[in-house]
Amino acid sequence: MMHELHERLAQVSEILITLAGSPIPSQQFQVLADYAGLVVPYDFLAFCLVDEDSEGYFIFPLAGGARDAVPERPYTLSEGIVGRILRHRRSEIIPDLALDPNATPDLEGVLRGFGLGAALILPIRQEQKVLGALYFAAQSPTTYTASDLQIGRLLAAGMASSLESARYYQRLADERSTLAAVLTSTQDGVLVVNEAGVVLLANPAFEQMMGLTPGVLAGRRLVEKVTDPGLLSLFEHDQQAMEVSLPDGRTAQAGAARVITDFGEFVGWTAVLRDITLLKELEQMKNDFVATVSHDLKNPINAITLAAEFLDKAGPLNPKQIDLQRRILQTGQYMDELVTDLLDLGKIQAGLDLQLASFDLVALIHEALFSLETAAERKEQEVKTWLPERLMITADERRLKQVLLNLMGNAIKYTPLRGKICIKVVADVGKVSVMVQDDGMGIPPQDLPYIFDKFYRVQTEETKGIRGTGLGLAIARSIVEAHHGRMWVDSTPGAGSTFTFLLPVSGGA
Ligand code: ADP
Repeated sequence: MMHELHERLAQVSEILITLAGSPIPSQQFQVLADYAGLVVPYDFLAFCLVDEDSEGYFIFPLAGGARDAVPERPYTLSEGIVGRILRHRRSEIIPDLALDPNATPDLEGVLRGFGLGAALILPIRQEQKVLGALYFAAQSPTTYTASDLQIGRLLAAGMASSLESARYYQRLADERSTLAAVLTSTQDGVLVVNEAGVVLLANPAFEQMMGLTPGVLAGRRLVEKVTDPGLLSLFEHDQQAMEVSLPDGRTAQAGAARVITDFGEFVGWTAVLRDITLLKELEQMKNDFVATVSHDLKNPINAITLAAEFLDKAGPLNPKQIDLQRRILQTGQYMDELVTDLLDLGKIQAGLDLQLASFDLVALIHEALFSLETAAERKEQEVKTWLPERLMITADERRLKQVLLNLMGNAIKYTPLRGKICIKVVADVGKVSVMVQDDGMGIPPQDLPYIFDKFYRVQTEETKGIRGTGLGLAIARSIVEAHHGRMWVDSTPGAGSTFTFLLPVSGGA
C-alpha cells in the first residue's frame, strides 16, 4: 500500500538527494532499484538507455522477477512502446500492455508472462535531448494513477540531472588523466606553485632536473627543496625567461607565468624548464671555433697585405699590376675587418671585456662624428645634433665609441647623396637614450627582424654596391646588452631609419 502523497514526496526528495550524490551511473541505477519502489509501485523496473550512435536504445532491467527473462538486445527507435515514448518525449500510463499496438514480444510479451498488466513509462530528458526512459510495470489489477505519473516525472528529472553530472565527472576524469599523462611523459620540467610558494604540481621531469626524489615536492614549500636563487627569483620579479644552472651541471631555460583565474584573481605561478645544454654546448663550440680561426687568419692576412704594399718597392708596376695591387689591398682590408669583427664579437659574447669608467657621452659623440666627418662630407650629407652640454655616464668608453661609429657609419653608408642625419641624446631618470636617425633607404619590413643577426645584410638593388661584413649591428647590440641596455630600430623603406639604444644609468642622469 502506497503512503500519502506528501509522504511520498518527502521520500522522493530523499531519493533525489541520494541520486545527486552518486557520480557513477551504476550507482544511480542501484539507488533506483533500492528506493524507487517506496514512491512508485512496481513489480518490474527497467532503465532504457538511448544509444546515439545506433539511433536506438537498450533495456536494462533493474528489479523485479521478470528481470532475468528479458532478452538483452538493441532496439530501434521505431520499435516498441518505449520507442514511441522516446520519439514523442511524453510520459504515458499504459493500462493494459496486451492491448498496446506497439507492444513487443521480447519485452511486453515476457512481462505479460509474469502476470504484469499495467505500465508507467517516463522519458528522461535533458533540455532538447532524450537520454532514455524509466519503465515501471505492475501486476494486475494495479493501475497507475496521475500521482504515480507526477512522482515518476520527478524521478525521471532527477535521473536526467544525475546522468548529466555523471557525464561531466567522466569528462573531467578523462581530461585529468590525459593531462597527467602529458605532464608525466613530457621532457620539459613543469612546476605550479600557489601564491604562498607551496608546490601544487611538479612533474617527474622537473624533479629529475632538480636532482630530487620523485614526489618529494608536492605540498611542500618550494624553498624547502630548491635553493637555486635563479630559479626562485623567477617567481619574485616578472621575469619572462632566464637560464638556470641545474645541480648536475646542465643548463635549462626557464620561463614563468602568473596564473590568473577567470575572475582576475592571482593564484600562483607556473614555470616550464627546458634542457638547453646541447644548444649551449653547440654555441660554445661555435664561438671557440670562430675565435680560433679568426686568430689564425689575422697573421696570414697581414702578411699578404704587407707584401702587396711593398710590391712597387721591387720596381715600377704597369697599370694592370697597379690595379691588381689595389684589389689585393682592398680585399685584404675587408678580410682584416671581418676577422676583427669576429674576434670582437667573440670577446663581447664571452662577457670578458667591459672596462667601466666615468666619461662625457656628449664629448664621445663629437669624437665619433669627427672621425666620420670626411665620409659624410664626401656624400654631401648634413649631420645635425641634438645634444645636452655634457652628460657623464659610467660605461666602457672604447666599446661605446664602437657602437656610435657603427650606427653613424651605417647612417652615412645607407643614406644616399645629400641625405640628412641626426644624432639625438635624451637623458631621463635612470636611463639615457641615444638616437641615430637618417632619411636614407630604410630597411624592408621582412628584413627588420634579422638585421641584428650575425652576417645578416639586406640584399636589394640599393645595397648592392655597399661593402660590409654584416657584423656591425650584432656587435653594437651585444655591447649595449653587456651594459644591460637595449637597442632597436624603426625603419620605413624609402623614408629612413632610426636606431635607438638605451643605457641604464645609476641615479638621475
Ligand atoms: P654591414 O653594414 O657591415 O652590412 P651591419 O650589421 O652594420 O652590417 O648592418 C646590417 C645590415 O643592416 C646592413 O647590411 C644594412 O642592410 C642594414 N642597415 C644597417 N643600418 C642601416 C641604415 N641606417 N639604413 C638602412 N639599412 C641599414
